[in-house]
Amino acid sequence: RIFDVLATPLPGDPLPGVVVVLRDVSEVKRLEQMRQQFIANVSHELKTPLSSIKAYTETLLGGALKDPVHGQRFLERIDEQTTRLHQLIMDMLSLARIESSQAPLELADLPLGRVAQRVIADYERQAASKQVTLENQIADFSIIVRADEEALRQILSNLIDNAVKYTPAGGRVSISGRVEGVVVLCNVSDTGPGISAEHHSRVFERFYRVDKARSRELGGTGLGLSIVKHLAQAMGGSVEVSSQVGLGSTFTVRLPVSGI
Ligand code: ADP
Repeated sequence: RIFDVLATPLPGDPLPGVVVVLRDVSEVKRLEQMRQQFIANVSHELKTPLSSIKAYTETLLGGALKDPVHGQRFLERIDEQTTRLHQLIMDMLSLARIESSQAPLELADLPLGRVAQRVIADYERQAASKQVTLENQIADFSIIVRADEEALRQILSNLIDNAVKYTPAGGRVSISGRVEGVVVLCNVSDTGPGISAEHHSRVFERFYRVDKARSRELGGTGLGLSIVKHLAQAMGGSVEVSSQVGLGSTFTVRLPVSGI
């Protein structure tokens, strides 16, 4: 633990002495370190796509623009990196909004199956284009969860996005749900590469990636699971992963059941 020591002479005291105040500043120091680490991470994440954009632009201006094949390819790279920067900024804004509670959550009783169905519809094309089967196992709308609709959509979107992104062709992504007492459990499972145990708690940290190159290549920002965790906690819930390398992954979100 780290302490600040404040020593004050006692005014007018006939006996010489001081008042010593010990203040525990461990938490202040820890938060400051986290803030510095976050700024370093953000700068790095912004710098990487920006450096690519600059390099491609300079090459184009240096003459590659006149070469139709290279010109087209470099413009496509610039477009990809710009999309990545845009996604990164959107994710950072989402996290900042959740953490500062700027957008208060509006809790309502929602059929989990209906929200899942809408999110799945958004990913059907992406899954089909890489031959991944996307399956909604919450067929009826009988599971009612107490949640903010937009937050729940974002949680399911981020989990399904990852599952589809990391699962190779021929694989399967499924979403299921059940009620256990006062808790609704929603599972997003995939037959992808899996995650080894030492990474299980860390994947929910900002910018933590198991395979940096793979995440970047697939357009990942490293913030998706951190957003899921913050949103689940803000609604009185949690998220966890169970996975083994080579055997796929299951992300489980727990949220309160409807308050009826
Ligand atoms: P990213 O934008 O990199 O996907 P996330 O915060 O969503 O960031 O996920 C953090 C890391 O967890 C990913 O980089 C990836 O290594 C791992 N990960 C997340 N979901 C899966 C999954 N379904 N299968 C395998 N690895 C995953």
